Amino acid sequence: MSSLSITFFSPPPHQIFRSTPPSSIPFSYTNCSKTPSLTTNIRANNTSKFGSFLHLKPVHKPQTLDFDLPLLHSSDHRPRKFDVVIIGAGPAGIRLAEQVSTYGIKVCCVDPDPLSLWPNNYGVWFDEFEDLDLHDCLDKTWPMTCVYIDDGSAKYLDRSYGRVSRSKLKEKLVGRCISNGVTFHKAKVWKIEHQEFESSILCDDNYELKASLVVDASGFSSDFIDYNTKHRNHGYQIAHGILAEVEEHPFDLDKMVLMDWRDSHLGNEPNLRENNKKRPTFLYAMPFNSNLIFLEETSLVSRPMLSYMEVKRRMEARLRHLGIRVINVLEDEKCLIPMGGSLPRIPQNVLAFGGNSGVVHPSTGYMVARTMALAPVVAGAIVECLGSTRMIRGKQLYAKVWDRLWPIERRFTREFYCFGMETLLKLDLSGSRNFFDAFFDLEPCYWQGFLSSRLSLMELASLCLSLFGHASNLSRFDIVTKCPLPLARMMSNIALESIG
Ligand SMILES: Cc1cc2nc3c(=O)[nH]c(=O)nc-3n(C[C@H](O)[C@H](O)[C@H](O)COP(=O)(O)OP(=O)(O)OC[C@H]3O[C@@H](n4cnc5c(N)ncnc54)[C@H](O)[C@@H]3O)c2cc1C
Repeated sequence: MSSLSITFFSPPPHQIFRSTPPSSIPFSYTNCSKTPSLTTNIRANNTSKFGSFLHLKPVHKPQTLDFDLPLLHSSDHRPRKFDVVIIGAGPAGIRLAEQVSTYGIKVCCVDPDPLSLWPNNYGVWFDEFEDLDLHDCLDKTWPMTCVYIDDGSAKYLDRSYGRVSRSKLKEKLVGRCISNGVTFHKAKVWKIEHQEFESSILCDDNYELKASLVVDASGFSSDFIDYNTKHRNHGYQIAHGILAEVEEHPFDLDKMVLMDWRDSHLGNEPNLRENNKKRPTFLYAMPFNSNLIFLEETSLVSRPMLSYMEVKRRMEARLRHLGIRVINVLEDEKCLIPMGGSLPRIPQNVLAFGGNSGVVHPSTGYMVARTMALAPVVAGAIVECLGSTRMIRGKQLYAKVWDRLWPIERRFTREFYCFGMETLLKLDLSGSRNFFDAFFDLEPCYWQGFLSSRLSLMELASLCLSLFGHASNLSRFDIVTKCPLPLARMMSNIALESIG
């Protein structure tokens, strides 16, 4: 058994599950030098009514890292030549720049604001970052995670979860980039032109760069990548998140709340409750201490996308019911992640990496740990082509790097994860509860491997059988009635991939 399953009866809303004394986890919100520590209380000047926090403006302003970056000067208009130009200094772009430059490859990273702190709040499984020796870039870890299935039962999962310290991770990667000789250019790329063995990258400050390989790591709304189909048929994860200073909250401090599917907060909201039954949302929560918590109301995947306003209203009702009074919103985020959908055309002259490359987990929306792990693999292919001993460029280079990013087995397994997404899209609240009840009862190697995208096709097939074995009769009925179409689509896509 992978999870400890407990059953309880609903306690009064304001007293749910408080156990660890508030002061037991010393936590200063971030080690980023420019962020005020929350242990020095930011005083409440506009405390919310219970649950109603939407009018509060985030206290924290966007921050930047304190680095002396080797920048290109816009006054120098001679084209500069690099082996690799990477568009975007998000987690994907910076990680790839760091990895490729380790081998002496000449890299330039272009971003309008390369030192700005990444805006999103990233969570990862601790073991994923530990395997990559990046666990020192987590600013908080929880030894366990928790999934509330409904008002009567919860599962405690024996897998640690961490919150990425955006400042530590970016500092570490940018620091290595600088010592490896990466150059940065502060601009937006607006055009790329290709010759046989070289590409010209034109920036919005009229600067021109030349490179043997261009990598587009500009995030989900990339302009430079072609996809297999025009209509990509994404599912969307949409969520509203706040890092909030609160008077109190009911969650255990040693458990990260991965999913809270309870819906008793919608008892007095018939419309919201009906909609939530059909297209459910859950709460994702990272309790840092008894007064500081990250809360995110999340629609795991929807198509068409669930309304953002609906998500916020459900969150308001939930916080009110949980007795969470928000004193200050320190940060807020609108999370919108396209999931699944067709892959980029493989190969093409520009390599996609990160959000635009199809590596987002189609059933969960996670990507950061996977991108960190894939960067050395892709860097290896780049080095084999552009490193000192070999000079493979043009079509051969593009084919090799794309193949390393998306070898055929990985494309097959992605089809499986997309099948997972299509299945989730068909589940209502009760179906989602049954599904996750069975899913987190699987052997840890299955549910952990699935969530971390590390299962082979065979393992995924055995996971399905095992899931069917663990499922309740209702859930089996759901699987039998709702899955054949997505299953047929997956099989035909796999067949097409294998002949194409
Ligand atoms: C709110 C939110 C929360 C998320 N939380 C998680 C999470 O907890 N765990 C997880 O694994 N994943 C999470 N994700 C998914 C995913 O990991 C993130 O979206 C991640 O930021 C994607 O990284 P990226 O480097 O591909 O793109 P981005 O982070 O979007 O970075 C792209 C960079 O490229 C720059 N850029 C764009 N266009 C150009 C151009 N033309 N020229 C030059 N530069 C350009 C941008 O300014 C930006 O700096 C989250 C996503 C969102 C939106």
